[in-house]
Amino acid sequence: MEVVCLDLEGVLIPEIWIGVAEKTGIETLRDTTRDIPDYDELMQQRLRIMAENGLGLPIIQEVIAGLDPLDGALEFMTWLREHFQVIILSDTFYEFGEPFMRKLDWPTLFCHRLETNSDGKIVNYHLRMKDHKCEAVKSLHDLNFTVFAAGDSYNDTSMLNEADQGILFKAPAHVIEEFPQFPAVNAYDELRAEIEKASPRF
Ligand SMILES: [Mg+2]
Repeated sequence: MEVVCLDLEGVLIPEIWIGVAEKTGIETLRDTTRDIPDYDELMQQRLRIMAENGLGLPIIQEVIAGLDPLDGALEFMTWLREHFQVIILSDTFYEFGEPFMRKLDWPTLFCHRLETNSDGKIVNYHLRMKDHKCEAVKSLHDLNFTVFAAGDSYNDTSMLNEADQGILFKAPAHVIEEFPQFPAVNAYDELRAEIEKASPRF
């Protein structure tokens, strides 16, 4: 039995923080792990900027609700879920991911949680565990599943490595160059072809 594990941001939906930066006009929210490699430092900066601008979770969720999955994402997911068990492994937070899950017909999502106070202000964030994408694939292997995985960035590469077949999807050129062991594709029909190639059932 085969499970497909997919990254969320950059694969099925746009980068959430860039979308929030665009909608709110707060340019400093555009920083990603490419600008600030330390995830904790980056998240603390984001929470500080949001607090300074009086942005609580409800406003952010409203902004996110106005964003759509990438073109063709829903159709791809519909095909994928007919043929495979699918788990989305993301470093986002359930509170941010929910509006997108609604638009993607509620697939399974493993990610992290935010902590809010009674005013709806985000006061902290909690990673469920370190490198959970890779750990999830290892655990699926322990359960005797074959795992195919696709992602677009550095935080996906340990998951892709652990999977029986890892695939880079819409990855930036420097990631493709650094990880030549993974096939790299840019469109959903190409991703589907790579998954079919990996599966003995096609
Ligand atoms: Mg991503």
